[in-house]
Amino acid sequence: MFQDARTLADNAQLAADVCIIGSGPAGLTLGQELGSAGFRILVVESGGMDFDLERQSLLRGEDTTGEYFDPVGARRSQFGGTMAMWNMELADRSLGARFVPLDAIDFETRDWVPYSGWPFSRAQLDPYYKRAEKLCGVSSNTYEAAVWEDECNRCLKLPASEAITRVYKLQSTESLLRAARELINVSTNVNCLFRATVTELVPDPGSDQIEYLRVLTSNRKKAEIRARIFVLAAGGIENARLLLLSNTVFSAGIGNGRDLVGRFLMDHPLYYFCQWIPSSPALFPLLGLYDVRTVQGQCVLGRLTLPEAVLRENRLLNLSGVLCPKPKGYRSKGIEALREMRLLARQKQFGRSLTLAPRACVYCGDIFAYAWRRFRASKQASLSFWSMLPNTEKTFGSMEPEFYLEQPPDPSNRVSLSTELDNIGCRRTLVTWKWGQQSRDSAHRAGVLLNKSFERAGLGRLVPLRRSRVHTTGHHHLGTTRTHNNPAAGVVDANCRVHETSNLFVAGSSVFCTGGYANPTLTIIALAIRLAEHLKKELQPLTVRRRE
Ligand SMILES: Cc1cc2nc3c(=O)[nH]c(=O)nc-3n(C[C@H](O)[C@H](O)[C@H](O)COP(=O)(O)OP(=O)(O)OC[C@H]3O[C@@H](n4cnc5c(N)ncnc54)[C@H](O)[C@@H]3O)c2cc1C
Repeated sequence: MFQDARTLADNAQLAADVCIIGSGPAGLTLGQELGSAGFRILVVESGGMDFDLERQSLLRGEDTTGEYFDPVGARRSQFGGTMAMWNMELADRSLGARFVPLDAIDFETRDWVPYSGWPFSRAQLDPYYKRAEKLCGVSSNTYEAAVWEDECNRCLKLPASEAITRVYKLQSTESLLRAARELINVSTNVNCLFRATVTELVPDPGSDQIEYLRVLTSNRKKAEIRARIFVLAAGGIENARLLLLSNTVFSAGIGNGRDLVGRFLMDHPLYYFCQWIPSSPALFPLLGLYDVRTVQGQCVLGRLTLPEAVLRENRLLNLSGVLCPKPKGYRSKGIEALREMRLLARQKQFGRSLTLAPRACVYCGDIFAYAWRRFRASKQASLSFWSMLPNTEKTFGSMEPEFYLEQPPDPSNRVSLSTELDNIGCRRTLVTWKWGQQSRDSAHRAGVLLNKSFERAGLGRLVPLRRSRVHTTGHHHLGTTRTHNNPAAGVVDANCRVHETSNLFVAGSSVFCTGGYANPTLTIIALAIRLAEHLKKELQPLTVRRRE
């Protein structure tokens, strides 16, 4: 059942077997898995059933380095969580997300990646990935591209030992959200209390248990929730923030005896640093595999990556690139002059910007030709669906890959608490984050290797851009309550239980030890299913007792 928290009496006391904080993919997966097993579940959601600016503003934060972003723009406070922001256009033009598991190497301890290594392997997570795919409604077929080829849409003929093509599977929120909504609507044991913000987890001073949660409703009523088990599923930043905010018994916050909560914040910077100039324009019509399309009922998008052996041999961080076609003339002298002028104008160097105007005029013919090609391409296709345009060999001149980069864990990248308060009196988030030299260098070295491979295969050249560009966030907040069986090195253990507590668990990307390049939701869901299996065992004595 859904309940609007505004209808609660002031100082209401609520109880459940398991209380889950947050109704994003992590919280809803847990709710479904445990609810279907008959346990009394209460999902507490700060947002409403739809977007609400006042609720959303509770997620606002500050960025100390200027390299990151205000986290409010990358998360959503409403039922379904950040799923409501998914913006990947699918083949039927609905919006969805990319689903992909982490690679096996991402779980390993790599001596060139400080703090790397998970307490379990990809093989151990594989059965949960399969269940996660089913829950998300994505095909269980492999991610290897060969399965998704057809006569006209083939992988680039690169030696498999040097570069490989795999796919992202794309899917809308429909499957995940509908099942959760239906379960909550019809079941008596799974409840969702929305417009209820958890402001503190209150520990029992005499034990290692969390005793209850303090909750404030959107019409400022107070409530308390007691449960046998509590799960934090509030997102990669809020999970850490809530542990830090819960400081009435432990001044540093819960699970933070070693000052680890909030540290190791990672994201997936999007890096644009090279362009592929194909050896022949005739290649463009053959590249449909690298565009969004539906094959065997599954929407997929091809991408390039490096084999694990190459990553190991060259001590590289993981990365994966999607090919973005650029109309002919995109890097021509006239367009580059215009780009330079725009950059200088943005930096308020108007005088210097104007000195480039004559150069732009000299190449005005090129500029008009480019503008026309771009107009034609964007009229009929966005980043997706470009391969369906007629005459791609005449329209496009190059491909500029968008690389998702792995960012190594770094304790100085962190979420902490600001001195500024939000409008319900809780300290806001302070983010300190830099994307780092290692990711950048590793990407450039990967580019050199890919270029050699392209040249050897006779496919053309992958040349560095004169000015590389980074979009520092993929909107993925990873690592702030990292997993490690040693409490001196992690916030949660391999079962995602917060060290120093016995009944508090964490679900979501904050438990990631490293992040690879993979968009995190499939792994978040696989880990939530794994956590649910563990909790079912922990809760078993409770069910037996209730039956008596
Ligand atoms: C534009 C965009 C595109 C994305 N695309 C992809 C993609 O293609 N593939 C992919 O894998 N991932 C993608 N992501 C990331 C993905 O959405 C997140 O990783 C995922 O939603 C995280 O799930 P979660 O359940 O851990 O947290 P969230 O989805 O953030 O949900 C957390 C919930 O907890 C609630 N909450 C927070 N604090 C409290 C509190 N104190 N009390 C009560 N409730 C609280 C919030 O209101 C929210 O509803 C994208 C994100 C964005 C912004």
